[in-house]
Amino acid sequence: MIPFTYLEPLTRDEALALLARHGDEAKLIAGGTGLVNLMKQRLVRPRFVIGLRALKTLARVEESGGLTIGALTTLQSLATCGSVRLLAPLLAEACGHVATVRIRSMATIGGAVAHADPNLDAPPALMAMDAQIIAHSQRGQRTIPTDQFFSGYYETILAQDEIVTEILIPEQPAGSGTAFLKFLPATQDDYATVSVAVRLALDGNGIISEPRVALGAAAMVPVRAKAVEAMLSGKVADATTFREAAPMVLDAIDPIADFRGSVDYKRKMAVVHVRRALAEASAKACAQSE
Ligand SMILES: Cc1cc2nc3c(=O)[nH]c(=O)nc-3n(C[C@H](O)[C@H](O)[C@H](O)COP(=O)(O)OP(=O)(O)OC[C@H]3O[C@@H](n4cnc5c(N)ncnc54)[C@H](O)[C@@H]3O)c2cc1C
Repeated sequence: MIPFTYLEPLTRDEALALLARHGDEAKLIAGGTGLVNLMKQRLVRPRFVIGLRALKTLARVEESGGLTIGALTTLQSLATCGSVRLLAPLLAEACGHVATVRIRSMATIGGAVAHADPNLDAPPALMAMDAQIIAHSQRGQRTIPTDQFFSGYYETILAQDEIVTEILIPEQPAGSGTAFLKFLPATQDDYATVSVAVRLALDGNGIISEPRVALGAAAMVPVRAKAVEAMLSGKVADATTFREAAPMVLDAIDPIADFRGSVDYKRKMAVVHVRRALAEASAKACAQSE
């Protein structure tokens, strides 16, 4: 790695001031699991690395109707926290699928969104729950829907002087069930070949409302499959509906061929896993209402 100066602010305001002062020459570091690799490969060469770990108030989970999650909360905490498992089980499940306990214990939810690697597990889960990302700078605060946050491969709409401070997860619709499927044909600790996060709510007659379907490792950014959602809305939750809706995912995805599979293979696996995730989420919604 090229030499750099490590700075460790003690407050959020101090971190924002350092970020504003050093501009493009600075990079934030949270868990370091993504940034350090990029620095070792010299893909990023910051002169200043601003460590966030002293900002303890950003490592918290609060019940607020839904959940307010501080950006420094680790993925392992999210996988195991009682409030998250109860109010946002989809996020707990997705975080539990990340790599190994060593990685999960370092990587943070703020880093998982800001890193913007399309293969990550938490972003599709956040999208399927209509989560919002709170970013602060010295200019103020803004709230960004997760599905408008990612702008390209490893790119977000965050400005250079902004820090992700919280993730807001709204209360989920009554009668909803969720599923997170991560297709891992090689090893259990790999990044996804394709991942699917689904939330859907069922009324007393088994009619679907507020469906959300989001995918990771299926394009340059995590994506929502809005054509699948439109097809599901107002339909009876059964195998026929899921079989008809799942292929609509092909409109939303544009996978990259790599050692995890060809474009054609990933497209086929996306359809299969959307169908399975819909069936699993529906079964969980039914089980809850019994
Ligand atoms: C071997 C390995 C396997 C992995 N496997 C998986 C996997 O299967 N699934 C998965 O989801 N993840 C996996 N990860 C983790 C993932 O790749 C990212 O490294 C991780 O999500 C980044 O979180 P972090 O807190 O470590 O971020 P950092 O590495 O600290 O930072 C990453 C980027 O985000 C920025 N950043 C960090 N925090 C903030 C903030 N609060 N505000 C603004 N910008 C910020 C940094 O400036 C940097 O650009 C794996 C990592 C490793 C090393």
